[in-house]
Amino acid sequence: MTKITEHIQAANGQPIFSIEVIPPIKGDNLKNLLDNIEPLMEFKPPFVDVTYHREEYIERPLPDGTIQRIVTRKRPGTVGICAAIMHRFGVDPVPHVLCGGFSRDETEDFLIDLHYLGIDNALVLRGDPAKPFSTFKAKENGYTYASELVEQVANMNKGIYLHEEDTPLSPSDFCIGVAAYPEKHFEAMDHDTDFEYLRYKVDKGADYIVTQMFFDNGKYFDFVERCRQAGIMVPIIPGLKPLATRRQLEILPKLFHLEMPDDLVRAVQSCENDQQAKQVGIEWGIQQGRELIAAGAPVLHFYTMGKADNVMKIARELF
Ligand code: FAD
Repeated sequence: MTKITEHIQAANGQPIFSIEVIPPIKGDNLKNLLDNIEPLMEFKPPFVDVTYHREEYIERPLPDGTIQRIVTRKRPGTVGICAAIMHRFGVDPVPHVLCGGFSRDETEDFLIDLHYLGIDNALVLRGDPAKPFSTFKAKENGYTYASELVEQVANMNKGIYLHEEDTPLSPSDFCIGVAAYPEKHFEAMDHDTDFEYLRYKVDKGADYIVTQMFFDNGKYFDFVERCRQAGIMVPIIPGLKPLATRRQLEILPKLFHLEMPDDLVRAVQSCENDQQAKQVGIEWGIQQGRELIAAGAPVLHFYTMGKADNVMKIARELF
């Protein structure tokens, strides 16, 4: 398997196309997901990210005073989907590995599974607060911040496992990605604090960064410049989501804590239906992509969110 950083080096300045996919809801068919992304293989993505999702649940108090936990939604299968993607398309999968819901030992077992499968890339994340809660809580003997998990993976790369004696064991060889937020992570007090923690993740061993989606390229350019001035020299991959419905004008800023540029807002507001809004999203995505490529972005990483048709139209113009 090739590392993300090696793919970027091998591209020699040519932009790379890549995508992120979300596992189906439990019981849905994986075939739909794979069939859906198959046409995008035309643009030769060297890697495909596969997200990880904690189960969502509600808690119901019982007459005996105990609490019953009822799972309402689950998207299992991240590792299996990674294996399926390798097998069917021959591209490198990048599983997302979360702090949330995992103890350190469970994380170690998860990483060992990946290592045995020959998966050498991982996007290391804290994860959002478990639904229905509004604040993040680490599992017992788990991690509160992604930087701690980065350190664990970096240690495994040196042959240092949990609970081991003095002798280093067989090292893993993970290329470690981390997330960053050009418009600030929603919990961070300010940009400076958020930025310092990002630097800490890189100091602990992150090899590359993937950004949250943004619609204003200026935010990405400012962010990259600031990283470079601070000596963060790892590749910074822009994450892109084509706007697909009129409602997303409101939903995406709320969910992902970002601002929509005025021009985009006006263009979508003038649409009479979602079909027109989708077309606006495609044109915006093409424009964003062209500017990012011209500015030397190493990869254009598209959040497909289960839909490939609009990404397909954008990629056709850019790659
Ligand atoms: P961290 O880097 O740990 O940061 C979280 C917050 O804590 C930030 O506000 C940061 O400033 C602050 N912080 C960091 N370190 C410290 C410290 N030492 N002391 C005090 N404060 C600190 N979520 C999923 O559940 N599954 C996914 O597959 C998934 N994929 C994603 C992919 C990308 C590209 C992105 C951008 C996000 C993804 N997310 C995913 C969402 C992500 O889990 C959330 O945004 C989460 O809230 C933060 O994760 P993080 O890794 O950036 O956290």
